[in-house]
Formats: sequence, structure tokens, C-alpha cells
Amino acid sequence: MKKILVTGALGQIGSELVTKLREIYGTSNVIGSDIRKIDGIDDEGPFEIIDVTDADRLYDVAKEHKVDTIMHLAALLSATAEKAPKKAWDINMGGLVNALEVARELDLQFFTPSSIGAFGPSTPKDNTPQDTLQRPTTMYGVNKVSGELLCDYYFQRFGVDTRGVRYPGLISYVAPPGGGTTDYAVEIYYEAVKNKAYTSYIGEGTYMDMMFMPDALNAIVQLMEADPSKLEHRNAFNITAISAAPEDFAKAIKKHIPDFKLSYDVDPVRQKIADSWPNSIDSSSAAKEWGFKAEYDLDKMTKVMLEKVEEKLA
Ligand code: NAD
Repeated sequence: MKKILVTGALGQIGSELVTKLREIYGTSNVIGSDIRKIDGIDDEGPFEIIDVTDADRLYDVAKEHKVDTIMHLAALLSATAEKAPKKAWDINMGGLVNALEVARELDLQFFTPSSIGAFGPSTPKDNTPQDTLQRPTTMYGVNKVSGELLCDYYFQRFGVDTRGVRYPGLISYVAPPGGGTTDYAVEIYYEAVKNKAYTSYIGEGTYMDMMFMPDALNAIVQLMEADPSKLEHRNAFNITAISAAPEDFAKAIKKHIPDFKLSYDVDPVRQKIADSWPNSIDSSSAAKEWGFKAEYDLDKMTKVMLEKVEEKLA
């Protein structure tokens, strides 16, 4: 039976991941942690306040709870990191190296997500390969490439069982997104239900990879349980489900809300980030090495998102 510490557990991914892990491994075996406390998962099971830049605190909590796995999610996301680049470096890189050190010292299995933000303008844009040019132009991207390399290093140098994926933009209805470039793909559903209209800060024809949260969570569990002898790439597996532009979301929403209207008011900062990312990535290594397969395409996800957002706003 696993015992797992999750950092950044109150964020978009963590708040659903903790619930899923508790269903699989038992409530007392999943310790949520975050720099803040809000009602919700923090009172449904073990929860600790941890600032991941505090290495001693991270070590003490992991040791006290005798965990065998760290899932490290605490980070500043792309748009937020661009506003505060030095702070992003301190949290994204400082937090990661602290968490990896705890994994090394206590011999823990380790998961952390990279992102499509680890690619840059010189990366091949269509069907972006698993192993390719990575020269990102954002602080978030610089952090993510460095993080991918650091996780590989901890495996090769110290034998830490590090594993990870490159997530595309994640779409969910439980926790709000945390300041990423693909947040529009969540907002559009809320505005569709509330106002039958959405003004997108990402321009027409801008394709990015996306994934519905249930697929993102299944990927973590599947990868962490995968046979290590089959993993050629341990960290930063490309995974994706959907490659879409704002107008594709509008088309899918119109199947349920025919008079939905999409307009554009492009934010140059986030548009520039989006333009530096791939249109679609190739996830065949993840499929081959540990059986990754997404269940939700755009239409299937849209149906669930609209139903759930409607329930939430009712
Ligand atoms: P989020 O912004 O929703 O949540 C991050 C959490 O980290 C927040 O709850 C925040 O309070 C916490 N945090 C911030 N600073 C901290 C600190 N110093 N110590 C401890 N906790 C701190 O992010 P998310 O969407 O859940 O993303 C989690 C991970 O997945 C990140 O590494 C992110 O880069 C990656 N990722 C996310 C997406 C996405 O679309 N959501 C896509 C690709 C990669």
C-alpha cells in the first residue's frame, strides 16, 4: 500500500488528485499539503501546511508521516510566472530541488508534472516529438525544462524513482485554474452557461493541446504503477487528448447552446506564450511505454463540462 505526500494539493490538479488517490489508497494514506489552507480536502483527511521553499519542513512532514511517495505539484503557472519571474524561479526550482532531496534522503518514489510550456518557438509545432528541441522563451518554460533535466539527473545520479508527464492545458470544473495560458478553455464553459457568450483572450486559430482532468489523473496513477523496466523516458512524457483553438470549443458548445457567441479581445502577453507552444504533441512514447490513452475528446468533455458547470451554478 502506498503512502503519498502531495504538495500544492489545493490547486487545480491537487484538489482532484487527492480525492482520487484517497479512493484508491485510503484516506489516511494520502497527505495533502499546501502553503495555504481552505475548507475542503484539508479537513477530509490528513493535511499539513508546507511551503515547499522550506526544505526542513518538507523533510520533517515526509518523515513524520512515513510516506513512500511524493507528488510534487506546488508551482507558479505560466501567466503568473511571467508577472513575477524571480519568484517563479525560487518556487518552481527551489521547491523542486527540495522535494527531490527529500525523495533522495528518504528513498521515495517521485512524481512531478512538466508542461507543453517546456517547448519554445523553435520546437517543431505539429505532432511535436517526445525528444526534440526545447528552447522556451518564458520563465515557466525555463523552469520546466530545467525541472525535466533535474528529475532525470536524480534518477541517473542517485537512483531516485522519478516519473513525470508533460501536461497540456487541463480542463476541469472542480477547482479554478491557477493562472495558466490555457485557462480560457475552462472560463469559456462558465461563460457559456452564465451568459451564452465568451470573449477569448487567445486569438482565433491558436491551437494548443488540452486534456480533461479525469484523463490527467488516470495518467498519474498509471505512470506511477507502471513497470519501471519498460520506461525508457522516466520524466516528461508527452501526453495529450485534444488539439484545439477557441473556435473549436465554440463549435462544440454550440451543439448544446446553439446561440452561444464567441468574440476575441487578445491579451498580448498570453498570446505570445501560446504562440511559442506547439499546436499538437505526439504522445506515442507514453502509449508505448506505459499504456497511456485518453478517454475524452472535445465533444465528450464539452458535454460533461456543460452539465457539471450548470449544476455548480444552479
Ligand atoms: P495551481 O496553480 O492550480 O496550484 C498550485 C498550488 O501550489 C496552489 O494551491 C498554491 O497555493 C500552491 N503553492 C504555491 N506556492 C507554494 C509554495 N511555496 N509552497 C507550497 N505550495 C505552494 O496549479 P495546478 O494547475 O494544480 O498545477 C500543478 C502542477 O502541474 C504544476 O507543476 C504545473 O506547472 C503543472 N501543470 C499544470 C497544468 C494545468 O493546466 N493546470 C498544465 C501543465 C502543467
